Amino acid sequence: MTAFVFNELNFDDHEQVVFASEPKSGLRAIIAVHNTNLGPAMGGCRMWNYDNEAAAINDVLRLSRGMTYKNAVAGLPIGGGKSVIIGNPKADKTPALFEALGEALERLGGRYVTAEDVGTSPADMANVAKKTKFVAGLGDRGDPSPFTALGCFVGAQAAVKHQLKRDSMEGLVVALQGLGHVGYDYARRLHEAGAKLIVADIDQAALHRAQEELGAEIVGIDAIYDVQADIYAPCALGATLNPDTLSRLKATIVAGAANNQLATADMGEACRQKGILYAPDFVVNAGGIIKVCYEYLNTPEDGMDAHVRRIGDTLAEVFARADAEGLATSVVADRIAEAKFKR
Ligand code: NAD
Repeated sequence: MTAFVFNELNFDDHEQVVFASEPKSGLRAIIAVHNTNLGPAMGGCRMWNYDNEAAAINDVLRLSRGMTYKNAVAGLPIGGGKSVIIGNPKADKTPALFEALGEALERLGGRYVTAEDVGTSPADMANVAKKTKFVAGLGDRGDPSPFTALGCFVGAQAAVKHQLKRDSMEGLVVALQGLGHVGYDYARRLHEAGAKLIVADIDQAALHRAQEELGAEIVGIDAIYDVQADIYAPCALGATLNPDTLSRLKATIVAGAANNQLATADMGEACRQKGILYAPDFVVNAGGIIKVCYEYLNTPEDGMDAHVRRIGDTLAEVFARADAEGLATSVVADRIAEAKFKR
């Protein structure tokens, strides 16, 4: 087991990994604290029916490491961490489960702060909050998705300016995958800016709403990679930038909310060689964590909108450096993060 964890590619010098269990509630959770050089580790809690414990460990390490990079580039005074609860979010959730997680976080004394993620909600976080104050994303105003969507939109604007030398989205075609919490709001902003939308989702209701409200054209789940578009906006799944899709995409810009868009690290360079400007996922989708961090640290919210909009400036810097140094945008973004958090 030890050999597996320390040799795991994503272990990457995690400061601390905690296995938390509580038999009465059935809690089996893993809390990963990747790096706290910039402040307490912050990142959401995912609940997922993992096939096995190794898959859960792999996921939490990968996500936790990613949060360190995301939080550092976003200029937040926090480090990176993540937690996963092993279980079915549709069947296994109880208030006691999340209270037990709260007790586990309390034992960490604030080194890690959680929030909602895939499979968890503000209501679950309210149960965590019964046992600890090291939790954010609470209440009606806790939803970070509109801020993630805003970050994606300003990110797309920066990419259009760099790649197409245009200040306007008018008439550009965006192939958008996933009309969920983030994707729909991002699509609305693109529509209001004059872009034409081609959308794919497995949720028929979301598709029809986008057709009615935003004039979107609907295509099949797999056909989204083949459509003639200027921008590909992945807002559903990870790993959609892979050798197959890169050979099919017509868009010369990728800007979307999904985490871990590159199937493998070398896909960043593959995008560059194909002339695709890739807005690194952890830079462009940081709007939500900016919102959660402001809430947790009680930072006055009047500067929050401007902070999210600075994602556009950061991306402009990433794109310019990538050009100047002949590097993939993903490599440049990693270097900017590492310069901030590595001591
Ligand atoms: P969500 O679950 O609300 O939306 C996902 C959407 O994708 C749903 O409408 C779903 O039906 C659709 N979908 C699922 N499989 C699909 C497929 N094969 N093809 C097309 N569509 C499919 O999630 P969300 O909160 O909108 O997050 C979207 C992505 O952005 C996720 O990868 C998430 O990790 C990432 N992200 C979200 C936030 C946030 O603030 N919510 C922040 C950072 C990153």
